[in-house]
Amino acid sequence: MKGVTVISHPLVQHNLTRLRDKRTGPQEFRRVLSEVAALMMYEATRSFAVEPLSVLTPLEKTRGFQLRREVVLVPILRAGLGMLDSILQLIPHARVGFIGLKREETTLRATSYHKSLPANLELFEVILIDPMLATGGSTVAAMDLLTDLGVRHVRLVNLVAAPEGIRRVHKRYPKLPIFTAAIDRTLNTRGYILPGLGDAGDRLFGV
Ligand code: URA
Repeated sequence: MKGVTVISHPLVQHNLTRLRDKRTGPQEFRRVLSEVAALMMYEATRSFAVEPLSVLTPLEKTRGFQLRREVVLVPILRAGLGMLDSILQLIPHARVGFIGLKREETTLRATSYHKSLPANLELFEVILIDPMLATGGSTVAAMDLLTDLGVRHVRLVNLVAAPEGIRRVHKRYPKLPIFTAAIDRTLNTRGYILPGLGDAGDRLFGV
């Protein structure tokens, strides 16, 4: 699908399969989700803007690069937390914002109950993190919020995406780059991704 990068690296796919397996308990689920998030970051950050600078090695001067913009990681609570720590290990200088969204069981509508984000968001490279892109309601709600705050450089990282969710997100935000480990078949009537991996938050935290 246009605008979506499916990360087909064997280690990503191996770990995704362990996460799909219903026998994988919370402890292992947390560890594997964390590992897979780090692996996905190499691809998800490949197009980060860099600028040249000169650096003195112990022997001579040479040209190097630095990231042009500061990075903000924005996990959507609560399942996004499962991907945060390992990404922070790769980008330790990143700031961390949070968006809390709740999906109403009957309407499946996402409503915000918490946000904490840095000022001047337009200056940052923002990585919006949510393991599951299902109906797209949460992503659209999060993107609406980030857009109101002026975000300009933003990408979305999911573990599993449903075609319905991708279409809905790209209808409203056609230029939003999406990185995922899989595009699954469809959604069920309760908004769960099929085959998916169940409720990512429940599987992470055991409740
Ligand atoms: N959220 C999840 O955690 N799983 C789904 O399948 C859909 C939404």
